Amino acid sequence: MDKDLKSKTLTELQSIIADYGGKEYLAKYIFSFLHIQNINSIDLITPLPKEFRAKLVDDGYFISQLKILEKLTDPDGTVKYLFETADGQKIESVLLDETDRKTICLSTQVGCRLGCKFCATGYLKFERNLTTGEIVDQAGTISADSNCKINNLVYMGMGEPLDNYDSTLKAVRILSDQAGRQIGLRRQTISTVGLPDGIRKLADEDIYPRLAVSLHAPNDNLRKQIVPAASKYPLPALLSAMKYYTQKTERRITIEYCMIDNINDSLDYAEKLIKLLRGLHVSFNLIEYNPHPGSDFQASPKERIKAFKDFLMQSGFEAIIRYRRGRSIKAACGQLGADRIKNETREKE
Ligand code: SF4
Repeated sequence: MDKDLKSKTLTELQSIIADYGGKEYLAKYIFSFLHIQNINSIDLITPLPKEFRAKLVDDGYFISQLKILEKLTDPDGTVKYLFETADGQKIESVLLDETDRKTICLSTQVGCRLGCKFCATGYLKFERNLTTGEIVDQAGTISADSNCKINNLVYMGMGEPLDNYDSTLKAVRILSDQAGRQIGLRRQTISTVGLPDGIRKLADEDIYPRLAVSLHAPNDNLRKQIVPAASKYPLPALLSAMKYYTQKTERRITIEYCMIDNINDSLDYAEKLIKLLRGLHVSFNLIEYNPHPGSDFQASPKERIKAFKDFLMQSGFEAIIRYRRGRSIKAACGQLGADRIKNETREKE
């Protein structure tokens, strides 16, 4: 059993406290010490009687804490954190500091199993899933270190969040809880490369964070060149899961589309995309591709991205362009792990 108190929802904390014969309100104290005050030692949760704190520690309970190994700041204000976990694994997270929007891009795994060709993390060996506490702590530690009130989260850092489904969803619950950090579900986005079973499972939950699907191509042949996992999760299965999600939740899905020069950025592909997605409740984020070592892809010219966007909009879809941020520190989309962890790269497929 995971004895990290930071991995516990408020309900789970209440049940632990009840097992010790404690009053229910104490769970709220613990939760707020963990997620508002960012306290990382059971001994510092002073509303709990001293003997109670000692008993929790004796029984193996602890509070996880990531160690900041490095912090790099881009001239555009983006900050990349390199963290070390208790067992020596390294992960990266990014703080995007815009005027009234403070976003953290959270990692959910050490490395990734899916090997997307546009993504530096995809070239790293998969080591393990992050625990709920380690996902939650990225938000807590960055918030405390930067003195920022975080109001937006994207599960889009290292790893595929739906490949670490339970820990990710529990992190969403903890970070949205009114007794803690209160980051609303509409301000938390799970970004998946498109695992149909995970999307269906998410649609059947009692909470709905926002969902983004990285599509990158309107047909399986091209998609497989960019997202090798498409061989296992072909478009018909993915579209069927997306349809189920939008019908069940009545929520719109964001389609992430990385604009890669002469690969997927022609108006012909824009037209195919429209045909593919017509009738589904979606909008588009067109992402400027961020080159990284190991990939032969290049970024589309800005005017082609703009033409692609205009075409989608003229066809009745909402579309925005996500310009690169944090590129000089390799904190932009698809660049996490490109730098610091490059010695651990696996052979290119
Ligand atoms: Fe993994 Fe996401 Fe990168 Fe694909 S884009 S390799 S799923 S981290």
